[in-house]
Amino acid sequence: MRATGICPKCSSKEIVVIPIGRGANNWIKVDLFALIKLTRYICASCGYMEQYVEGEKSFSKLRRKIENV
Ligand SMILES: [Zn+2]
Repeated sequence: MRATGICPKCSSKEIVVIPIGRGANNWIKVDLFALIKLTRYICASCGYMEQYVEGEKSFSKLRRKIENV
């Protein structure tokens, strides 16, 4: 959906992008001091939604989480 701009469920091209930092639930707490940000892609026809972690800082936090397991 992010790459194609087309909903994989209903083939609509009406995709709404909710960028990083908009909305209260666009964050995931990965540990006590680390938050990662999400961007959401929502189909305006059927409501299907995908969300992606964005930004190198966020990926670094995820890698650190793996290394600490
Ligand atoms: Zn759809």
